[in-house]
Amino acid sequence: AAEAAADLTKAAKERGIKYFLISYVDLFGGLRAKLVPASAIAEMQRNGAGFAGFATWLDMSPSDPDLFAVPDPSSLIQLPWKEEIGWLASDLVMGGKEVAQAPRTVLKKQLADAADLGYTIKTGVECEYFLISADGKSISDDADTADKPCYDQSALMRRYDVIKDICDAMLKLGWGAYQNDHEDANGQFEMNWNYDHALLTADRHVFFKYMVKSIAEMHGLRATFMPKPFINLTGSGCHAHVSLWNKGKNAFADAKDELGMSKLAYQFIGGLIHNADALCAITNPTVNSYKRINAPRTISGATWAPNTVTYTGNNRTHMIRIPDAGRLEFRLADGAANPYLLQAGLAAAGLDGIVNERDPGKRLDINMYTDGHKVKGAKKLPLNMLDAMRALEKSKVLGDRLGDAFVSGYLKLKQQEWNDFSRHLTQWERDRTLDI
Ligand code: GLU
Ligand code: MG
Ligand code: MG
Repeated sequence: AAEAAADLTKAAKERGIKYFLISYVDLFGGLRAKLVPASAIAEMQRNGAGFAGFATWLDMSPSDPDLFAVPDPSSLIQLPWKEEIGWLASDLVMGGKEVAQAPRTVLKKQLADAADLGYTIKTGVECEYFLISADGKSISDDADTADKPCYDQSALMRRYDVIKDICDAMLKLGWGAYQNDHEDANGQFEMNWNYDHALLTADRHVFFKYMVKSIAEMHGLRATFMPKPFINLTGSGCHAHVSLWNKGKNAFADAKDELGMSKLAYQFIGGLIHNADALCAITNPTVNSYKRINAPRTISGATWAPNTVTYTGNNRTHMIRIPDAGRLEFRLADGAANPYLLQAGLAAAGLDGIVNERDPGKRLDINMYTDGHKVKGAKKLPLNMLDAMRALEKSKVLGDRLGDAFVSGYLKLKQQEWNDFSRHLTQWERDRTLDI
């Protein structure tokens, strides 16, 4: 891994960097950047690169002063496919103050809250994505048609050139890439790298999405992390694995527990369960997200996405799975989740569980898809984005923890998106209603 570069001008000279991409992620996960020559980086490192905040998805106004993206030198990544460019994650500053609604800042605050309680949060993300045609209309491989395409060796290997370029890049960056597979939908893939501190994972997650899209384009393809791009195929999740650490020890692990989880871990799970519907507005942030988690089973037999607020052991039909001692897998989040807000939301809900000693209830060891109806009182996830937004709006827990600047700004922009969607007349409605 590249050593942290305290002085970017020096780093540019030593590593042959000609240009820097000073980037930030807006509330909707959009990656925004300025391309800055190395000769100008010293000044930008001090004061940041200037942006008009309102021009991106932030709750700002055209009359606002300049928004400055101040790069975090420790986030420096040289593009593995063009090493003369150095990518930098930034923190947003306006009027000399860090912008409270900025996703990376929202996450840093949660991590500081965790640190106050004595914990470091470590996370890993499993980013599923589709390789699709350049026009976005279909998957990119006509031969990839099996009903159960998961782990299909031939379909995986027909995309070897793309997958290998991405995996090589992760190896070069020292992320500890360790496996790649064809996922459960035709045209869908997943690539895994090691878990790490939540902020580092979030920065890498941002870069990973950019990298996958960029490398796919170089191969004449297109990559999408859209939660449900094809209605009859399994969607793209973004499972997150979480553990809390204290003095170098995994505080989620307890060998005495049946599943190897500590009381603290169960409280964290209690927090995720208690706050699930509000959290959904963050981990499943688009209109399309709800077509993944509420979808009927696909032809292959399962969508692998949850639809209830439940947890279990090593069983993939619930919102939370405990696959192994000492960590949980949150299966709800999808490919549209903002990498920083995903981590921030999980931390906020989980820390609430710890502070308020939330009881996660009973673990359910059943196939939730087929036997879920037998469980009395198993809470359903929100059915659409509006329900999730309303839950977030009502949530005092997430409001207090994530802060009003973020929650109110986020909900304002999401409401605009929902209104825009509601004004959209679909062909389905016309077909269904025209002759009534
Ligand atoms: N694609 C599934 C989802 O939407 C997950 C498949 C898996 O378990 O890896 O969450
Ligand atoms: Mg997967
Ligand atoms: Mg998983």
